[in-house]
Amino acid sequence: MTGLSTLFTELGSTAKAPTGLVPFRFREVSGDILLTNFLGDWLFVTQDEFRALARGELDSASPLHDKLASRNFLREGFDQAKAAERIAYKKRFLNWGPNLHIAVVTLRCNETCVYCHASRANMDAVHTDMTPEIGEKVVDLMLQSTSPSVTLEFQGGEPLANFPVMKHVIEYALARNRAYGKGLEFTMVSNLAMMDAEKLAFLVDRKVQICTSIDGPEHLHTKQRILAGGNAHREAVKWIERINKAYIDIGLDPTLYHVEALLTTTREALKYPKEIVDTYVGLGCRAIFLRPVDPFGFAGKTAQIVEYDRAAYNDFYRTAVEHILDLNRRGEQVLERYGSIFLTKILGDDDPNFLDIRSPSGSGIGALAYNYDGKIFSSDEGRMMYETGDPAFQIGDVFTSSYRSLMKHETVRALVMASIREAQPDCVNCTYTPYCGVQPEHSYRTQGTIFGRMRESTLCAVHKGIQDFLFDKLRENDPKTVEILRRWTTVRARTHFIHASSAS
Ligand code: SF4
Repeated sequence: MTGLSTLFTELGSTAKAPTGLVPFRFREVSGDILLTNFLGDWLFVTQDEFRALARGELDSASPLHDKLASRNFLREGFDQAKAAERIAYKKRFLNWGPNLHIAVVTLRCNETCVYCHASRANMDAVHTDMTPEIGEKVVDLMLQSTSPSVTLEFQGGEPLANFPVMKHVIEYALARNRAYGKGLEFTMVSNLAMMDAEKLAFLVDRKVQICTSIDGPEHLHTKQRILAGGNAHREAVKWIERINKAYIDIGLDPTLYHVEALLTTTREALKYPKEIVDTYVGLGCRAIFLRPVDPFGFAGKTAQIVEYDRAAYNDFYRTAVEHILDLNRRGEQVLERYGSIFLTKILGDDDPNFLDIRSPSGSGIGALAYNYDGKIFSSDEGRMMYETGDPAFQIGDVFTSSYRSLMKHETVRALVMASIREAQPDCVNCTYTPYCGVQPEHSYRTQGTIFGRMRESTLCAVHKGIQDFLFDKLRENDPKTVEILRRWTTVRARTHFIHASSAS
């Protein structure tokens, strides 16, 4: 059997133009042909079936005809009203406005990491601490968002290094929100090495979700994350266990409430796919996000040490996720986050509103990032670009900007246009368009254009690799595996972390 590339040249002059089909895109996956339409419906056909389709020889009495009809690939019987409803439902995030507000309360950090994205400062650089006044202005702007629920995420540097301001901002936000009545959540991304019992008691009491970084087994983590005078891995593990116990002590379900940990996949990490998964499972994590290294912050400078070819990443991903699937088969409830995001769109007919993988992306209209000095950016990545000398994504500051001026900023408008997949070269023809998305800041950082050239994009290579893997699993159609993948799309809301949404 010849591949797709030669299919059209061999159709021959007797072929008729196909009729009666809705527009669709196609891609070869392990020998079969995957078809997707603009609604996100998908179907595998054999190469012979695809050849018949391409030759305009679809027999209305054939099983292929029925398959195509059942997945909305035929014009006949196509329900336009239902299609419009589905699209509106999946894109409902466009009705909201920025729900994620990232506050960088300091650039100071007590750890030095080989891939630092955050452009850290030394612990004595107290001039990089956010002041309480700036923190209050961040909250004032956040609460003006048209989104009915907002999350304030504390980042750094190491946010615990400026804990008094973080505390003040949380109390201020809780008090101010009484006038707004939004669903309000707090999260903190910390390496945990500066945690103590008093800080933890406050964070648990104010329902602040805690997220940390784990690079994998201790030898890998401590090699990549240097904690002066200490062991970064042991500190993180010690506090993960204590925090998880604190949740149990107040009666929360440990399968739902536990510290979330994030991985940054470096070149060194590629050697340990299974060990990394096992480390996470051993720490009680139910989700592993196999994120490749970012090109932002200092990671741009240390690329020779941490970067790698994306084909190697895709091999790593496959090995790690096969291992996760095996663990699931043995009764362990653990999922891979990229997989669950894509599968929610592929199997769930929904969009989980993950800001970096949606179309248009969340830059500006889904998230805003506030630097310690009050400058406002379209995303945390845009803020990191500023810290390394490029202000392209600054859209205002907390002193002079109104919420309207931020949303109408020309940079935000350009970012929206640049991240609509259906309107971009390469993506417009890609079979994965209905499920995909890219962050325009990434294209700008790596290619010098927010529009991006996807065939050369490392992010696209990752997205394609992951979707190829997932669709290959769906093509194999092993009932147990499909059931596991379906389970990965189930959302269990962590309502405990949401502060009351009724105004008083
Ligand atoms: S980013 Fe890549 S995988 Fe995603 S839709 Fe565009 S071309 Fe396809």
